[in-house]
Amino acid sequence: PFVERTPLIAGNWKMNLDHLQAIAFVQKLSWALKDVKHDFGDVEVAVFPPFTDLRSVQTLLAADKLALTLGAQDVSPQQAGAFTGDVSAAMLAKLEVKYVLVGHSERRHGHGESNETVGEKARAAQAAGMVPVICVGETSEDLEAHGAAAIPLAQMQAAITQLPANAEFVIAYEPVWAIGSGQAATPEQAEEVARALREALRDLRGDDRAAATRILYGGSVASQNIAAFMRQPNVDGALVGGASLKVDEFSRIVQFKK
Ligand code: PGA
Repeated sequence: PFVERTPLIAGNWKMNLDHLQAIAFVQKLSWALKDVKHDFGDVEVAVFPPFTDLRSVQTLLAADKLALTLGAQDVSPQQAGAFTGDVSAAMLAKLEVKYVLVGHSERRHGHGESNETVGEKARAAQAAGMVPVICVGETSEDLEAHGAAAIPLAQMQAAITQLPANAEFVIAYEPVWAIGSGQAATPEQAEEVARALREALRDLRGDDRAAATRILYGGSVASQNIAAFMRQPNVDGALVGGASLKVDEFSRIVQFKK
């Protein structure tokens, strides 16, 4: 059966904006987005602030019924206890966090997170009722040695084997060489890997889950290139870093025309 996938535009703030800046930013963003209507239907917009901002942003979203959803940038694979510096899935769920990034390349490479840890984090988020956004992507060396799809496919498979059969998740395909480089993948490159990921999902999770799962592209997404990505049949949204920190630019991205 044909499944409509609601496009998801996600703003990954990384380590930017303190909680006061976050409040001002979200207020401006909601104002900028309040009359946005797409002629092809809804678009979901999510922001992923640092942990210290989540409570402030959540209070704002709840009080003003703002049409943004809340995401977190990471989560502990552990439930509770002696894990200094970690934040649990239950704590995030209590703040009405809906999405959790797991396996962002800055975690895999900067903090040595293995495929197994990424899967455990995805499972912790899912078990607490949130939707893991599983980030996958190849480095330029991987690209040279294995082509574009091999590493993302292996990373996706390793993470989702830790999730229950019926679990909802989002995949974010982010070539490492495209992140923060100003050098986005071409729409055709993004589509090729997204299509390979969806084909693999068919084998791993069946046709319905594969058809319902949103696959995002990330890596130097900007207002000038978003439309071309969104026209690709297997690309269902974007994970936006740098450009998500500017209200005007991020709202232009959200208002992409197909
Ligand atoms: P970028 O980051 O848009 O700044 O390239 C994307 C990401 O890391 O999620």
